[in-house]
Amino acid sequence: MKALTFQGIRDIRYESAADPVIVAPEDVIVKVLYTAVCGSDLHIYHGRESGLDTGTVMGHEFVGEIVETGRAVKKLKKGDHVVSPFTTNCGECYYCRIGLTCRCERGQLYGWVENGHGLHGGQAEYVRVPMADTTLVRYSAEMDATQVLLTGDIMATGYFCADQADVRPEGVYAVVGCGPVGLMAILGAKARGAETIFAIDTIPERLEWAKKLGAIPIDFQERDSLERIRSLTHGRGADGVMEAVGSSSAARLAYDLVRPGGIISTVGVHTSPGFPFSPAQAYDKNLTYKIGRCPARFYMEKLLESIQAGQADLRPFISTIMPLAEGRTAYDRFDRKEPGYLKVILKSTEGV
Ligand code: NAD
Ligand code: ZN
Ligand code: ZN
Repeated sequence: MKALTFQGIRDIRYESAADPVIVAPEDVIVKVLYTAVCGSDLHIYHGRESGLDTGTVMGHEFVGEIVETGRAVKKLKKGDHVVSPFTTNCGECYYCRIGLTCRCERGQLYGWVENGHGLHGGQAEYVRVPMADTTLVRYSAEMDATQVLLTGDIMATGYFCADQADVRPEGVYAVVGCGPVGLMAILGAKARGAETIFAIDTIPERLEWAKKLGAIPIDFQERDSLERIRSLTHGRGADGVMEAVGSSSAARLAYDLVRPGGIISTVGVHTSPGFPFSPAQAYDKNLTYKIGRCPARFYMEKLLESIQAGQADLRPFISTIMPLAEGRTAYDRFDRKEPGYLKVILKSTEGV
């Protein structure tokens, strides 16, 4: 098959890779219809997350059709249309039972193979899915597969971010970073009834999207931008800050923006060894800090229902659809945050 593979920093190649095969009886093989490039892929692309084997198939966001099932697969069958969360999960361990599916004791992250161990990703024509019955979610073939694709990661992550921030209708909130995940956090906060959401970034197109979603856009490089948030909260700061960047400067900004007693909800993937604020500073703000990977599987069924019911319209997020063969260009343009490359979706040559 053809796939996008990791070859080194800023070196993603479209090349031939081994066809995935059933390894365990709970596995299925999915023929990928659409896959997407994520901000998390950029951490690998930039070399901020290291350890990945050369030749690893990239990507953890995909939808497709089941073409083969292992002998222990009971709920799913060949021909089913399925969407995957970005990690696999067993559905029965302690973490799966409490809804923290992203920390499943047997879970794996797609697109991460280290020293020969791990799971290849979905930016490919085919992908192997372990523990398929409990990992995958079936969707009706009539649904728009590109919107369905977004439930497996960024939509779930945005809603999770708003849940962690305990967003309430009467509160004042800030979203730091208006990439696909930050914009989804705005949707998630809106779904919880929030009316006042400041959206912080520097990229005009992304700030424009934040505005269209009902947030107040703020370019943090403009003078007095942070004062605007403080002045609208009587100098206190935001009740909750949702951080969807994953850098020390963004974490510091979140700290500076949150009011005493407020919550910082971080979904940005961080790779630095320390916090840009001290325990003493956290103490002095009575800060609640929540951070981590989204348990996407826990959210997906409800999110699919809200798309189907027309409550959440994800069409604005489908900015660009390109062939998988142009994946290298897709990474480059998404990384540069070029206009029109907000969420890049790749169409698998085999699948569509
Ligand atoms: P992205 O790179 O497209 O978006 C990041 C945005 O942040 C950009 O628009 C950029 O201009 C902006 N930005 C950069 N520095 C900033 C700063 N100091 N202040 C404000 N804005 C700043 O990525 P994305 O796809 O939206 O993903 C965002 C983050 O979420 C990434 O770190 C990704 O790894 C992470 N993520 C986490 C989970 C999870 O489960 N926790 C899931 C998906 C993605
Ligand atoms: Zn992702
Ligand atoms: Zn589990």
